[in-house]
Amino acid sequence: MERNSAFTGGDEREVEGKTWHQLDEAGLAEALRTDPRGGLAPEEAQRRLAEIGVNELQEKQGEPPLKLLLHQFKDFMVLVLVGAVIISGLLGEMLDALTIIAIILINGILGFFQEYRAERSLRALKELSAPHAKVIRGGSLDTVPARSLVPGDIVMLESGDRIPADLRFIDCQQLAVDESALTGESVPVVKEPHMLTAADLPLGDRKNCGYLGTMVTRGTAKGIVTTTGMKTEMGKIADLIQQTEEAETPLQRRLEQLGKILIVISILLTVMVVVAGVLHGQPLYGMFLAGVSLAVAAIPEGLPAIVTIALALGVQRMIRRRAIVRKLPSVETLGCASVICSDKTGTLTQNQMTVTRLWLGGRRIDVTGEGYDPTGQLKEAGRTVEAKGDAAIRRLAQVAALCNNAELARGEKDEDAKKRKPGKEDTVPETADWRVKGDPTEGALLVLASKTGHSRASLDTLYRREKEYPFDPDRKRMSVLVSHQGGQLLMTKGAPDLLVEHCEYVLWDNQITPFTATLRQKVLQANEAMAKDALRVLGFAYRDLKSHEVCETNEQAERGLVFVGLVGMIDPPRKEVHEAIVKCRQAGIKTVMITGDHGLTAEAIAKSIGIMQRDGRVVTGSELSVMSDEQLDRISDEVSVYARVSPEHKLRIVQSLQRNGHVVAMTGDGVNDAPAVKAADIGIAMGITGTDVTKEASALVLADDNFATIVAAVEEGRGIYENIRKFIRYLLASNVGEIMTMFLAMMMGFPLPLVPIQILWVNLVTDGLPAMALGVDQAESDLMRQKPRSSRENIFARRLGWKIISRGLLIGLCTLGAFVLTLREGSGDAASLVHAQTVAFATLVMAQLIHVFDCRSSRSIFHRRLLENRFLVLAVLSSLVLMVAVLYVEPLQPVFKTVPLGFRDWALVTVAAGIPTFFMGIGSVLGTSKPKKGSKISYGKAAAQPTRPLSR
Ligand code: ATP
Repeated sequence: MERNSAFTGGDEREVEGKTWHQLDEAGLAEALRTDPRGGLAPEEAQRRLAEIGVNELQEKQGEPPLKLLLHQFKDFMVLVLVGAVIISGLLGEMLDALTIIAIILINGILGFFQEYRAERSLRALKELSAPHAKVIRGGSLDTVPARSLVPGDIVMLESGDRIPADLRFIDCQQLAVDESALTGESVPVVKEPHMLTAADLPLGDRKNCGYLGTMVTRGTAKGIVTTTGMKTEMGKIADLIQQTEEAETPLQRRLEQLGKILIVISILLTVMVVVAGVLHGQPLYGMFLAGVSLAVAAIPEGLPAIVTIALALGVQRMIRRRAIVRKLPSVETLGCASVICSDKTGTLTQNQMTVTRLWLGGRRIDVTGEGYDPTGQLKEAGRTVEAKGDAAIRRLAQVAALCNNAELARGEKDEDAKKRKPGKEDTVPETADWRVKGDPTEGALLVLASKTGHSRASLDTLYRREKEYPFDPDRKRMSVLVSHQGGQLLMTKGAPDLLVEHCEYVLWDNQITPFTATLRQKVLQANEAMAKDALRVLGFAYRDLKSHEVCETNEQAERGLVFVGLVGMIDPPRKEVHEAIVKCRQAGIKTVMITGDHGLTAEAIAKSIGIMQRDGRVVTGSELSVMSDEQLDRISDEVSVYARVSPEHKLRIVQSLQRNGHVVAMTGDGVNDAPAVKAADIGIAMGITGTDVTKEASALVLADDNFATIVAAVEEGRGIYENIRKFIRYLLASNVGEIMTMFLAMMMGFPLPLVPIQILWVNLVTDGLPAMALGVDQAESDLMRQKPRSSRENIFARRLGWKIISRGLLIGLCTLGAFVLTLREGSGDAASLVHAQTVAFATLVMAQLIHVFDCRSSRSIFHRRLLENRFLVLAVLSSLVLMVAVLYVEPLQPVFKTVPLGFRDWALVTVAAGIPTFFMGIGSVLGTSKPKKGSKISYGKAAAQPTRPLSR
């Protein structure tokens, strides 16, 4: 095999008879023609991409459009109509046969467009959640779409990442990978970069290889991409994975079952109509056609497609509001959410940290300056402190700058620059130029260090990092080991209340003093005082390492420390959060803050944004740890802040709330949050700070990490469900109206009030367009002032079933009434029957077109602005125009068996058509003028109290 072509043949994973896991780093670099340090040149990556194609698993193709179109004609209703065409043809009724054929075609084409659009929107959704990868190209680290990876790319991975292609690790730091998606093995596999010699190793034993689609659960790694796309191990089983996709939402499934029941009922009623008609002397052929048309009209065949469209369009509206739905069924659940559990940092707050206060051995020092701009001063009792000569400040600054992985950079964020309109440059504040790459908490510490005159760059020349004990949300601290002038120093920063447990000394008056109980108490009091002022507080400590002391684990390293001091930073709440929380309260949704931060900080912020009332309760992680599930269940309804929790606590909180009957939305970002996010009814992942693992476990991703976006999504979720109810009501009430008109007429021995072609026309024109317009209707203004609906609620609940039957019945009665009145006035000949049938036809159409406006409101037509939904107005107008055409365009009259109507006829039609809606509307206005007890959430006294916004 030719060496140089190794990267092109993903299948040919042998290089000189060896597979990837048998090569060392140099061998890999040579075979894949890449540089493990600097990566591929961007042009070379482009060239390879063009040559071998994108790194994607080929999706099972969606239905090709032609198949989708033909699919429309496989419907039961179409078969019934085809039967009718054949019989009409055999009996020589060519006009009937041709008209029904036209109807079948138009119906099929409409159905095709509905389904095609629904499918396209769903596919667009998938692309939004496409993964990214961190890759070194041309010597610098960049984030690129995972689909653009090519063999030879150098990929960096960290805990929570999804492995973006098949690769061979060349560096691993405590790496563990969950390969269950590929091998079924649920325990994460520890990976190491060393070369393996055995040739035929099963996948699970190739410890130095990573595979597309598996997840990094711990540690960090660097790997060379060996294979991409369909040639990867995952590609080989891609078909298997795609079969597990969920397709329908519970509502869609329930509606499908409902549809089946309705088919049976419609057929039964139709048979009764036909039998009654024939018994009363109607001609058999006429009754047969009428029966077929009625059956076709009565079956709500458009329902599933309209539900899919309403869901898909709703999901697109959510995307515009920055919420990306990953699982369609969650759209329904969103509307039922009764508790939202949210992280604090970044979701409720801005995650824009600024250090404002220090505490060093009893001294309080205030820090001036704005944002990440590293200019500002340190002031003690109003006087500027000479920071450079102060030993305690110097030590604090060293730990702040060195025990730190962030970077401060000057320059705009690319996206910001793109968004800004030309000519607006001058309005950008000076400070906007400074930004942090990495954790904002650490960014703020770099800024602090610069303000003391100890920049990271100057310290890096004196101290060299030897080892890192990374931050983890369980330990709530991070340490580094640095070498300096032949010695070694350990530097630690983290949650002060936990950090003091590992300190034996304290820096007090520039002296290293034993950390007595009294001094410890003073530190903790200072910590609490800062936390009460809503500051996020970090403690700092260090120790000189004895020569040759080995610190493999963090337990060995982080002990016997010297406590240096405290740093307090503000993280202002997001501006829109307060309003969102008020909205939640009005909507009967409880909000809960879950944070790793200190209880008092959490409480201060929770109060300022209105999550917590004055007498609210904070539960800490340590309290949670000693609580039984029963004890937690007893209090979880009341608690609005959980502080100092570890990710595992989140799962217990979700489960407890669920046991108490709540539908829980829970946010998460880190790997350890994934179980709670998965267990929640609506798991929510952060789009910016969230890991791939959490995103994959989630139902919803917040593109902007913002709490207000969750509330917007809940609002959309409620709106979508109500819209589905609106068009179900419209379609079914219309069908009941059509059936009732025919059924009652036949039972009472009248002639047919509607001819078959008119019934088919009503089904196609009057039912179709307005129903779709209802699917995108605006929400009612009190949508977010109602209690969340129960997830077990029947679609016909809240009197919808009654409304369908009562309005349908009235429409039927009024249509029949107009028909009978006109018939009575006539001379009894065939022409007067056609006249009466035309009046009935116009009444039915008008009654439905008026009723559609009533369907927009859960109360009555008088509660909504008439012209608000422009799609609906357009749909109704076009249906009206088409009806007028059928009545007055001469060539259409014989087809639809109509005659032009006069002024008197229209007066009758208008009155009869208006009765069902206005009669019931007036009734419900009278009925609801007194508000019903318990139908709204009460605004508690505490809730109405103004809350104090936090100022920066
Ligand atoms: P959330 O509210 O989203 O849970 P949080 O920031 O409040 O996030 P964590 O990030 O888990 O919670 O932080 C918990 C505590 O750990 C903080 O109060 C702080 O004392 C400490 N801490 C946070 N970030 C760091 C860091 N980079 N290095 C060391 N300690 C940190």
